Amino acid sequence: MIPEDIQARAESLRARINDYNYHYYVLDAPTVPDAEYDRDMQALMELEQSYPALITPDSPSQKVGGEPLDAFESVKHDVPMLSLDNAFDEDALYAFEKRLADRLKDSRTLTFSCEPKLDGLAVSLLYENGTLTRAATRGDGQTGENITQNVRTIANIPLSLRGDALPSRVEVRGEVFMPKAGFESLNQRQREKGEKVFVNPRNAAAGSLRQLDSRITAKRPLMFYAYSLGVVEPQSFALPDTHSQRLLKLAQWGLPLCRETDVADGAGGCLAYYERLMAQRDALSYDIDGVVFKVDEIATQQQLGFVARAPRWAIAQKFPAQEEITRLLDVEFQV
Ligand code: NAD
Repeated sequence: MIPEDIQARAESLRARINDYNYHYYVLDAPTVPDAEYDRDMQALMELEQSYPALITPDSPSQKVGGEPLDAFESVKHDVPMLSLDNAFDEDALYAFEKRLADRLKDSRTLTFSCEPKLDGLAVSLLYENGTLTRAATRGDGQTGENITQNVRTIANIPLSLRGDALPSRVEVRGEVFMPKAGFESLNQRQREKGEKVFVNPRNAAAGSLRQLDSRITAKRPLMFYAYSLGVVEPQSFALPDTHSQRLLKLAQWGLPLCRETDVADGAGGCLAYYERLMAQRDALSYDIDGVVFKVDEIATQQQLGFVARAPRWAIAQKFPAQEEITRLLDVEFQV
């Protein structure tokens, strides 16, 4: 039996988070800082953990992103595009390592791919016989928006892959983002024209990419870094057996990778990487909101599998919020 006040609190959190999600994912116009969103989501997840009967498939804790916009043609993802679980402190990272060991029934030290958590939006690029034929947003994880024309305008996304030995069909996933310098100059231009400025590079990237007129996207300083593979055909196509080596394969095919990506052993090695990136954060040319750790061995990833909205083999460790100090609600947004 769930006490009435708990039920009411869960419902109010859900209603609030659903509203935040709509503004953030569908309109690209967040109404609260990420840290406030994360606190509400954390509170909801704790309630659901204490009262599992509260968990419903439509709870925001079980869902990814937001509904795709009708204005775009929809794209069904062959492999769902999921979210990531979050760790907000060291203990959570050690708890993650322990969960992995328990599930694998193996306490050997795991190797992780350590990657900056780029603050943009996830995009799927489909290459057929080496040619970019379709690009899509993550959408709600199952269905995204067809943004092929817009993606074609991003200068560092290859329209064809390099090399002869290519899969007949390969989906590359990564982040489209707006580098800090491009964001500053875009806002400068907006100010000069007397138009609204963007609140942060993530918002600017999302608004620029989800434009109905690709000529507008073409004028926006967007970039892409690849960070994983989706569908690969034929299934017999030989790929390296670690995530980090697969990223290098993507680089050989001509896809841009984030240079700060590295590998580390165990939660201790991951924390050292986190500290290093945190120290470099301001000097990086792009915004990051944390780091992502992924079990490097693909066979181990497969053994661990997924839960509703995220893989069990990865975690995002968030940096302390910078945005909270911004008077977010006083800033005007533009899509
Ligand atoms: P997430 O941002 O926590 O993690 C998943 C995403 O990380 C992926 O989809 C991908 O886009 C990105 N990513 C960046 N670098 C990556 C890498 N190297 N490897 C894999 N993925 C990488 O999850 P989410 O579901 O996209 O968003 C949840 C977060 O978004 C919240 O924690 C919150 O901070 C923010 N949010 C804010 C509001 C708001 O109103 N302010 C609303 C919704 C979400």
